[in-house]
Amino acid sequence: MQANSGLSLWSNQSMLLAGLALASLLIVGLGLLFWRQQRAGRRMAASLEAMTSLFQEASRTELPGLVARTQFDAALDTAVQRSDNGGLPVSVLFVNLDDFSSVNDSYGFHDGDEVIAQVAQRLSALVGSGTVISRMGGDEFLLLLPATVEQACAVATRLVEALGQAYRVKPRGEVVLGCSIGIAAYPQHGARPQLVAHANAAMRAVKLAGGGACMVFEPRMAVDNREQAELLQDLRLAVANGELELFYQPKVDARSLQITAAEALLRWHHPKRGMVSPAVFIPLAERHGLIGPIGNWVIADACRQAAQWRDSGLRMRVAINISPYQMRQDDLVERLQQTLAQHKLQPGRFTCEITESVAMEDTQVTRRTFAKMRQAGLHVSIDDFGVGQTSLSYLRRLPAAELKIDASFVQDLAFNLDSRSIVDALVRLAHALGLRVVAEGVETEAQRDVLVAMGCDELQGYLFARPMSARALALWALDDGQRPDAQFRSSLFQDTAPLPE
Ligand code: C2E
Ligand code: CA
Ligand code: CA
Repeated sequence: MQANSGLSLWSNQSMLLAGLALASLLIVGLGLLFWRQQRAGRRMAASLEAMTSLFQEASRTELPGLVARTQFDAALDTAVQRSDNGGLPVSVLFVNLDDFSSVNDSYGFHDGDEVIAQVAQRLSALVGSGTVISRMGGDEFLLLLPATVEQACAVATRLVEALGQAYRVKPRGEVVLGCSIGIAAYPQHGARPQLVAHANAAMRAVKLAGGGACMVFEPRMAVDNREQAELLQDLRLAVANGELELFYQPKVDARSLQITAAEALLRWHHPKRGMVSPAVFIPLAERHGLIGPIGNWVIADACRQAAQWRDSGLRMRVAINISPYQMRQDDLVERLQQTLAQHKLQPGRFTCEITESVAMEDTQVTRRTFAKMRQAGLHVSIDDFGVGQTSLSYLRRLPAAELKIDASFVQDLAFNLDSRSIVDALVRLAHALGLRVVAEGVETEAQRDVLVAMGCDELQGYLFARPMSARALALWALDDGQRPDAQFRSSLFQDTAPLPE
């Protein structure tokens, strides 16, 4: 099937392939989930049962299964005292939903409350009766577990998975949210008064790293809050001070190794700290409303660069990463169109990389943005694919031309059969849907060989090139294989067929 040949040409064979790929994905996913739950379940059962009676007196709040904060504090006091007297271990989990404000913004507070109630339900159902749960307000929950830090980690991992499943928002559909969980255990991570604050600091560290995971408290995290505030101050001035720069990492054709595209990756040259990773400052900017001006700067600079490369004869797409906030901005596509037109760039040669979790967020505003992207003829890529929740029918309706398989699957491809089956299924699924497949994070020749054998279209990773300055990339791309250390040859522009209607 040709790339993007449209739903009208959706053949029976493709449907069958997509079905098979989806079935293999489901089987692999369910197998992994079952195995994890069995293991974690066995470990936890003994200590959870023993603690059941301790907290049963805790009275209820309006959310079933949850107690008020004062009761949580009293239960924590008791648990700590008992632990001092040789009782059960104590761990505190600080749970914060990622980007919950988008639910209130998109659906309103009533549906937001409904989602919170579903979160509380899942928490109660998953942790067992020995755990005390309290809502801190907003989208934050505290959990007190009679568990060692290892057991608490197993529970937190299960929670990250379970809370990441779609929530019903009647009557309009579903919403998917990640969550960040910080863990602090007594006594190794602090005395009683610091426990909750340290679990909170660990939760913030998860957010800084992009959310959707859990972390155990480390002493360095305690200073991170102060550092974060300083970074935030500096970040406010970064655009105006000219401290941002776009680096570019090539994507190469899997067979010919010619460059097909360059992905813009943001770098912040901090005057005192040196280079700060986007994995640190993008989530920070996102949370504190600074991503708007930064995202606009990225659009302007990437278009300027794309035009300059085009004028010097380079044939490659330029890709930018679109943040969740930008996807929800009403004027994102208009801004892109204006800037592309200003530089006389074709929208079809400019790629917007949108992470799977945001792409699958089927809200009115993202639907509108996708519709405008389709109309504008932009090249859309679904980034970090495979880690989130994907609805196949929704994926089919998106104006995407490319799927980027998440680096986590690529990393252990050469020796992990699960990853291999997942990547194989993803490649088949993408091809059945008429999408090109890019594998990212390719570091070894063994990974490359497996990916090429599976039929991946394009590859990206340190094996070929690290992200580099625009000037350095132009030198590589124009070099035409003259350099002895070059893993790839000069640029190649791969046109894609028009987007499906
Ligand atoms: P991403 O879009 O998934 O980008 C890929 C990340 O993996 C980049 O990290 C890249 O340098 C790194 N990488 C590439 N090849 C390899 C490899 O072979 N091995 C390993 N271990 N890593 C590899 P980077 O540049 O630190 O960016 C991190 C994330 O920050 C990006 O993940 C993206 O989500 C975000 N980001 C970067 N620039 C922007 C931007 O301009 N706007 C927005 N909204 N987000 C950005
Ligand atoms: Ca990307
Ligand atoms: Ca990615």
